[in-house]
Amino acid sequence: MAATSTHPDVRSLSVSSRLTDKHGRAITDLRVSVTDRCNYKCIYCRTGNEGAQYAELPIADYLRMVRVFVSLGIEKIRLTGGEPLLRRGLIDMISELAQMRTAFSVEGVPLASGAGRPLDIALTTNGHLLQELAQPLQDAGLNRITVSMDAIDHEKFSRITRVPDSFNRVLAGVRAAKRVGLDPVKINCVLLRGFNEDQIVEFAKFSRDEGVIVRFIEFMPLEEDRVWTPEVVVRMEEILAALNTFQPVVPLAAKVVSETALRYTFQDGAGEIGIIAPVSHPFCGHCSRVRLTSDGKLRTCLFSQSDHDLYGVLRRGGDDGTLAEFIQRTVDRKEARHHIGEPDFLKPSRSMVHIGG
Ligand code: SAM
Repeated sequence: MAATSTHPDVRSLSVSSRLTDKHGRAITDLRVSVTDRCNYKCIYCRTGNEGAQYAELPIADYLRMVRVFVSLGIEKIRLTGGEPLLRRGLIDMISELAQMRTAFSVEGVPLASGAGRPLDIALTTNGHLLQELAQPLQDAGLNRITVSMDAIDHEKFSRITRVPDSFNRVLAGVRAAKRVGLDPVKINCVLLRGFNEDQIVEFAKFSRDEGVIVRFIEFMPLEEDRVWTPEVVVRMEEILAALNTFQPVVPLAAKVVSETALRYTFQDGAGEIGIIAPVSHPFCGHCSRVRLTSDGKLRTCLFSQSDHDLYGVLRRGGDDGTLAEFIQRTVDRKEARHHIGEPDFLKPSRSMVHIGG
């Protein structure tokens, strides 16, 4: 289902400047939440209650804002939510994003020709609808995918997602993503003490058996319900210790400096594990990310106390130059770091499902 229409202005746009914040960090990654609806109610993310209200903008408006970000040097776009596969129009949106790869140029030379890095398009999903959508996503131009899975044990999986029989559906989705050639397929696993820390070795085996990268994520205080305490967090050292009981782990070199995960394999070279440790080993110093929420607010940190109404600028008739100025001004004020675990920590103004993970 190839998109035929691209924004008329897009071909004349060039990458004019690099987005940099006042701490000197280059901002190259944009996460775009395309809905805050979700069909799972993971215990560490959502309340068990149905939210009646949700926020979604027309796909064309997300694209308009993304186009301005790309013109400012954004190189990687991750679509997220909520659950992005629930979003009507997602496949066409990815086709349009894929067209931006060749539409933008650095001093007249298209990015895809090697003068710059081509736009990387990724997506994070719970995988529930992935079996059906893997091929259309790949055809539309998605590069790679991350699927959230918090247990290998089927019952535990359903207890966490609060959706019966969800494991087999997600597993089928992971396999479909591999089959159609989305590469790499990554698995995100949030560990919570008392729920799933006994799954670490199972996930190590899963990485090796299924040929996927498993990334363990420390639980952050971003949930709708107030369940986060420092004690619930399963920290990096503990994860490594558990993996070492299976087979000695071997560190892998970082591919890019802004990488969130520390990468490991095992002594025999099979399997890849990432550990994302924002609580015990924060990586704010080389953060390259900003986020656009499903209602069009720009967030400079997961833990921001406020967000910035980029969509409001668009709605009031702002042209691309005005949007670009607003983005530059907002990014400049990006927070130096988060304060998780410190006495002055304040919970962010929104929870993960409403920010876009
Ligand atoms: N629905 C999609 C999914 O399940 O992947 C995308 C949205 S979800 C909010 C994105 C990622 O954030 C998931 O991998 C999820 O496990 C992670 N996540 C949610 N709440 C979190 C928290 N409090 N701490 C760490 N990761 C969290």
